[in-house]
Amino acid sequence: MGSAEKKRMTRRTFIKAGMVGTATALIAPPALADSLQKMAESERSAFPKPVYRTLGRTGLKITVVSFGAMLTPEPEVIRVAIEQGVNYIDTARKYMGGKNEDIVSKAVKGMRDKVFIASKTLPESKTKAEIIRDVETSLKALGTDHIDVIQLHNLTDRRRIFIAESREALAQLKKQGKVRFCGVTTHKNEAEVLNALVDDPDRFFDTCLVKYNFKSDKEVAAAIDRAASAGIGIIAMKTQAGGYETTALGKISPHQAALKWALQNPKVTAAIPGMKDMTQLREDIAVMGMPFTYADVRRLDRYADAIDPFYCNFCGSCEAGGPRGVEISTINRARIYAEGGYRDISLARATYAELPQQATAAACVDCEGCAARCVNGLDIAAKMDRARALLS
Ligand code: SF4
Repeated sequence: MGSAEKKRMTRRTFIKAGMVGTATALIAPPALADSLQKMAESERSAFPKPVYRTLGRTGLKITVVSFGAMLTPEPEVIRVAIEQGVNYIDTARKYMGGKNEDIVSKAVKGMRDKVFIASKTLPESKTKAEIIRDVETSLKALGTDHIDVIQLHNLTDRRRIFIAESREALAQLKKQGKVRFCGVTTHKNEAEVLNALVDDPDRFFDTCLVKYNFKSDKEVAAAIDRAASAGIGIIAMKTQAGGYETTALGKISPHQAALKWALQNPKVTAAIPGMKDMTQLREDIAVMGMPFTYADVRRLDRYADAIDPFYCNFCGSCEAGGPRGVEISTINRARIYAEGGYRDISLARATYAELPQQATAAACVDCEGCAARCVNGLDIAAKMDRARALLS
């Protein structure tokens, strides 16, 4: 096996090879053991030295590239990341229909003290009883006695930040030591949500997991700046703008450039790219310590052009123009889960299914022409047709 081929070998493959190696070491010549040892060393040196930043007023020092576990089917991928120093894992009660927390639980077994775990209550949970139920369920699924950061999932405006019952539940869970810090997540109206966290006289929430990428508006960057300056810990998600595969850059992937773009902002503590396998893990965590360069700017320009016909930034501007209350931004998010780099039809369908029937793309069928207009020129009617075909 050539050295390039060895490098391409995944950790999982290596472990399997290692197991074979262990069994055959008894009969294998020393040369085989040597080559396995060298392979292990090259695997180790392929990972960068972790880089840490402080997550706002929580004081947690977390890796700038942290682990989005949403799509990770194998605990081993997360375990390798932890072994390499990645110390913040983001999951949610909702992901994989509740199974994602089980995967994280297996991944952190025996290493719980090396990582911070962030999870999320269900998006629809608002009452005290619902929030407490979600957290208790997560604690059980994660096999832990505490969650480091619990987040209210998918805020689309400022209202949920101020629900007294939700806060009561979170305060009680904190007092019991079941959660350490509280946050929110948002991928629509991000600036409104971030600003509300700062304007909250109680400053109840400590962190915000926010959609932030090279396609984000200046308004979002300004709100991140303000929130971070007020001590709110900022974690970026959706940094890959859909994670589309493209040939627009030849063989070069735009994804490292996209990650570096988000992390060049010092007000962003970390990003949590979703990592499905060892290839994605390598690509993403290699970014730690890398500068954002002019070549990255060029790559992102070309990537942006390539994804323009598909990418929706969930701004919701078009929704006011549609007469039927169709939630175009959420439908597009679900469509991107199915068609973008996620390629996760279950997640796409689950996201689509959260919508009330009258807000789905089914409501578009009888319209003669689409009155909704996209600020970025997306063909909304075509996207709704596509969503209906994929997700109904
Ligand atoms: S379709 Fe266009 S206007 Fe509507 S949410 Fe997406 S980017 Fe915004």
